[in-house]
Amino acid sequence: MRLASHGDGRVGVVDGHELVDVSDVVAGLAPGTGISLMRRLIGAWPAVSAALAELDGPRWPWREATLAPPVPDPSKIIAAPVNYRDHQQEMSQDFHVDGLGVFLKAPSSLIGAAGTVRLPYHDRRFDHEAEVALVIGRPARSVTAHEALGHVFGYTGLLDITMRGGEDRSTRKSFDTFTPMGPWLVTADEFGPPDDVLFELALNGRVRQQASTRDLIWGVPELVAYASSVMTLLPGDVITTGTPAGVGPVADGDLIELDVTGVGRLTVDVSARGAVTCPTRGAGRGPVPPPADHQPAAGHRATARDRK
Ligand code: MN
Repeated sequence: MRLASHGDGRVGVVDGHELVDVSDVVAGLAPGTGISLMRRLIGAWPAVSAALAELDGPRWPWREATLAPPVPDPSKIIAAPVNYRDHQQEMSQDFHVDGLGVFLKAPSSLIGAAGTVRLPYHDRRFDHEAEVALVIGRPARSVTAHEALGHVFGYTGLLDITMRGGEDRSTRKSFDTFTPMGPWLVTADEFGPPDDVLFELALNGRVRQQASTRDLIWGVPELVAYASSVMTLLPGDVITTGTPAGVGPVADGDLIELDVTGVGRLTVDVSARGAVTCPTRGAGRGPVPPPADHQPAAGHRATARDRK
């Protein structure tokens, strides 16, 4: 099932080209306050999923809906820093995920499909990072890799927008609008195994990143298991798995499209309107990204779209 958050805190099921609003059904079965309807849906999933089989509710073309991040208010967004070897290489990093662990992005950085990434400074470099993300379904504390997938509710696309430089990752990746997510989440049963998921990112129509999750250093089970050994994972928490090679800068007016096979396309634009001078002095320090004019290597032209 494809589940979307939309409008002012509502939830819907994506049915072909249509979005069926099921907010009233979910609210009736999953009472609660203080958290989003999507988190309530996830927490009460066994009861909710049975009720949603009938798909009873107002419907309209999903393109006419205002899509929000599938989970608008996760208690945390956990991210893998260097989890593909080709990205480790392009960033000249000595360590990858097994030497770095995970980091956190602020949940307030989330935006939904068709949103706008707002660059805060005019004198710093900001990059796109294409990633496949998962949403936690059942609480997890020190689960094994073998148990991990049983705690995953679903999958979605995520852009880990990043300021390059020497500031802490939690700063560089947590500016408001720096975590586009969506367009919706696909439940794990429909999505299937997360071990060979093709995804690609195009910037202004040109493919910049293309990979499969089969090349993850820590796959989804290992990442969930490790994260759960550090912090208790709660329903609705987001874990984003890391970015492959091909990262590059984004600028005012750019259009970013992320296609994740089995999910769909997440599209956002980029604006530098109102950008100011950066108040911190991390420019010129930190991991060195590939040059701005770097092109993806030849032989990477077959796209996830072509393979569908
Ligand atoms: Mn990343």
